[in-house]
Amino acid sequence: MEADLISEYQRRAEKVLERNKSLLDILTKLQCANARVARSVVKAATACGCVEIGGRKSRPEREDTQLRGSLCDECRGTVITEMGEALFYTSSLASALGIGLREIVESDLCRSDMMGRYSLR
Ligand SMILES: [Zn+2]
Repeated sequence: MEADLISEYQRRAEKVLERNKSLLDILTKLQCANARVARSVVKAATACGCVEIGGRKSRPEREDTQLRGSLCDECRGTVITEMGEALFYTSSLASALGIGLREIVESDLCRSDMMGRYSLR
């Protein structure tokens, strides 16, 4: 996402959230949104079956997501919607704390550049 697009997204999220700026609400809604992202990915495997998710020990030398197949259009749409909700509440939390999304992205890019593939994520 380009820096201007990131800032514009955060500005629009702030306008949408004008009625309810409670930090407690934002935090709990972000938690729910993150859980729904995970559930939408799991349901793609367990309910739809368009993907399979492996569960073996990962090895650093193997760049393996342990995901087989690809999301069908319906599951892809669901995952995108849920990730959008999570992004919205992440943006809202950042705004409530006086942090720009752009600052987060730039900081994380810098950290990733310094740590490379050993950032333990
Ligand atoms: Zn599917």
